[in-house]
Amino acid sequence: MHKETRSTCPYCGVGCGVIIESRRDQIIGVRGDPDHPANFGRLCSKGSTLHLTATPEVTLQTRLLRPMQRLQRDAAPQPLAWDAALDLAATRFADTIRTHGPDAVGFYVSGQLLTEDYYVYNKLAKGLIGTNNIDTNSRLCMSSAVAGYKLTLGADAPPASYEDVNHADCLFITGSNAAWAHPILFRRIEDAKKQRPEMKVVVVDPRRTDTASTADLFVQIQPGTDVALYHGMLHLMLWEGWTDANYIATRTNGFDALKALVRDYTPDMVVQTCGIPKDTLYEAARLFATSKATLSLYCQGLNQSSSGTAKNAALINLHLATGQIGKPGAGPFSLTGQPNAMGGREVGGLANLLSAHRDLSNPQHRAEVAALWGVPSVPEKPGKTAVEMFQAAADGEIKALWIACTNPAQSMPDLSTVRRALQRAEFVVVQEAFLTTSTCDYADLLLPATTWGEKDGTVTNSERRISRVRPAVAAPGQTRHDWQIGVDFARRLQAQGIGPRGALFPYETPESVWNEHRESTRGRDLDITGMSYTQLEEAPQQWPLPEGATAGKQRLYEDGVFPTADGRARFAAVAYQPVAEARESRFPFALTTGRLRDQWHGMSRTGTLGRLFGHVAEPVVQMNAGDMVRRGLKEGELVHVTSKRGSIVVPLQASEELASGQAFMAMHWGPEFVSGVSSAGQPLAGVNALTTSSYCPTSKQPELKHAAVKILKAELPWTLLAMAWLPAERALAAREALRRLMTRFPFASCVPFANAAPLDGEAGAQPTGLLFRAAAHEPVPDELLAEIETLLGLDAAGALRYADRKRGQRRAALLDRQSDKTTLRAVLLAGDTSAESWIRSLLQQELPAQSYGRLILLPGAQAPVAMPARSRQVCTCFNVSEEAITGTLAQCSGSDSERLAALQQTLKCGTNCGSCVPELQRLVRRTLPLKQAA
Ligand code: SF4
Repeated sequence: MHKETRSTCPYCGVGCGVIIESRRDQIIGVRGDPDHPANFGRLCSKGSTLHLTATPEVTLQTRLLRPMQRLQRDAAPQPLAWDAALDLAATRFADTIRTHGPDAVGFYVSGQLLTEDYYVYNKLAKGLIGTNNIDTNSRLCMSSAVAGYKLTLGADAPPASYEDVNHADCLFITGSNAAWAHPILFRRIEDAKKQRPEMKVVVVDPRRTDTASTADLFVQIQPGTDVALYHGMLHLMLWEGWTDANYIATRTNGFDALKALVRDYTPDMVVQTCGIPKDTLYEAARLFATSKATLSLYCQGLNQSSSGTAKNAALINLHLATGQIGKPGAGPFSLTGQPNAMGGREVGGLANLLSAHRDLSNPQHRAEVAALWGVPSVPEKPGKTAVEMFQAAADGEIKALWIACTNPAQSMPDLSTVRRALQRAEFVVVQEAFLTTSTCDYADLLLPATTWGEKDGTVTNSERRISRVRPAVAAPGQTRHDWQIGVDFARRLQAQGIGPRGALFPYETPESVWNEHRESTRGRDLDITGMSYTQLEEAPQQWPLPEGATAGKQRLYEDGVFPTADGRARFAAVAYQPVAEARESRFPFALTTGRLRDQWHGMSRTGTLGRLFGHVAEPVVQMNAGDMVRRGLKEGELVHVTSKRGSIVVPLQASEELASGQAFMAMHWGPEFVSGVSSAGQPLAGVNALTTSSYCPTSKQPELKHAAVKILKAELPWTLLAMAWLPAERALAAREALRRLMTRFPFASCVPFANAAPLDGEAGAQPTGLLFRAAAHEPVPDELLAEIETLLGLDAAGALRYADRKRGQRRAALLDRQSDKTTLRAVLLAGDTSAESWIRSLLQQELPAQSYGRLILLPGAQAPVAMPARSRQVCTCFNVSEEAITGTLAQCSGSDSERLAALQQTLKCGTNCGSCVPELQRLVRRTLPLKQAA
């Protein structure tokens, strides 16, 4: 039977509504929910491929489907029954708590949990066990936004809504590549700009991103200098008389101190600090202050910083000083990275917070929560935040760790400390949907959890809108919902004598958990006592929505009254501090990190799908082309990227987006996709081997956005390329097995790829491509190469082979000879990969290969005829390459918008999810029509 289920996308904080199509308990399709106010039916490249990440093939090869115990570290985990698993967990945690006290355990959870899951774990740690050692990967994402809002506006509440984009006269996008990180919100921005071209878009970013490329004014600051910029803008606003004196006088406190501070932020000082022209500074200040309504949109560029709270507060200062808040189209609007970072904040799921935006440091708040939970007290001592928690585990202070729905061995900064923590902790529980994350490798106990399409509960998006998450299919294998696992564990701990007695966890449904959470919000700024699950079945709702109200609030502070003791907002006089790790002669490059358009976080889900690697196919570090020339570095060659904490080897790529002195690497590339081992035997584990755990003193959010690095050519002359098309039912298992081999090389990466897949086809068993790349100082043992060949099907009887052991050369190829066409199905080139380009084209594009068999085996051989190299894929939905786009554009004349329309009509690119539209616009501007070029 064909079924449709309304739910939400599990990726970013835009929180798009989806309709999941399923048949016979299998997810077969997904489309945008036309009635959901976050997206009105649209989905981006990630959301629109969700169903392809939930096929039986993906589930069977990547999911954790039953509880497992690892009896010895590094041994393969063994299955065990749920009861035994939970008893084991309860016994080990109870023993640790009895012997070492409650603060010897820690919980590290996730902004991808549902609000109900979050609520249970928060209560479990703080209410039952009596430790505040519960923190979340949201600490890495938005804790600076929380601290910034509270410091200035008095409560952690984004005051604006997506609808405000339609009313803004100036959009001030700062520290956010929304075009890639929040694509569906960016579609709204594009629409607004189309309808009201007079709306000005200002983008502040160290990189000329796709977002920046659409701006009316691009402010390309030096990394980390945001506070200096905002103070400099305020300095100019004061000088020019652009501030709102009445608003400042009647609605705020603390302006004099700020005014005194920004006196020093003269235009000369600011342009020198930020590295921008003076007229750009002036124009940014003018547009922000004098536009009728200015809406700022910001994200990790502000949050992931050692002065993250100051950056947030300094931006909010500008809104308060100009009265750009509490009216349509205006306000400081922080975009959340994760789907339910907001829900986590609501239930107080951070080490320093309590339910319903209460503060741990406030005795009355602690008493209120204790009364609500029916426990004698909530501990006063602040818990360990993310970085502190793993440091404490590495130091032996925290002895038992419970990690749920997150992958700290990929996503935390300074991974060598995290690795030490996971190795030293005496008992590590990993509650996960995917068995393929690096963190699973460190688990003593693995608990299988449900995930998207299976879960039931609620999430809150960036605009305070609560949506239902509904199950379309039954939980696979023995997986259980996260909240249920927490409840079962809590009851067992109580049975072991831990915590107060009584029915503290009486929940039988997610709704019963949510109802308790709802009651905790009564009278608070996020009061949702007027909301119900039944009402949420009808439509998503924004908070606050107190009892008696008929609708949630679209916009906060319209009356100019703030949730502070005196009802006034507070200016924060925070001085500019440079990044924690300044560039210096030994580490001359500023490495920034960020998202890719088609990938999500550690890629445990998006990384299962070859088609999402069409836009960016392999891990690289990017540099300014001029810097590469000056350093004698070439495109594609391997480089060592080294910070004070670690080193990785990765291919180099030139980027027009970067200013001189900067480098960029996507945050997604963790040890699951790029790895290797140093000559000292240390694993080289992805981008976060380099990043710093220096954090903002207020928000404790680490500076993932900046590290000082050096980049030097890697001398690894022996190279390996292995590629294959594999059946969908074993490709991901092969990738997982290849991942285990990556640390046998000084450099290795392994990624899937795909050919054109039908856009509207049901989830099907398309063959999946795998690309394994490696390099070494000298030839690796034959047995290792044989292992790789076996995993890629090159051990088949008909495979062609060549080996010259003396010269370290080895080649293998497998041709598929059908009556109508012979194609290359798998190939391994070891020792000399100079023929990569044409052999790769032959395999990836499934070109006729009958006459190439012997040639492939010949080291260094060139193709007898020019082989069309497939260029980068720009449009994921219709599989349109950059080459096809520029070729078509060369034939199109007219205005930019006419040429874009002609391009889209011809190739269909950008006409489905729209994620590639900013890049298409960039290509339109760059590619002249042939006649004009001539
Ligand atoms: Fe999902 Fe894309 Fe919407 Fe974000 S913008 S919620 S990733 S569909």
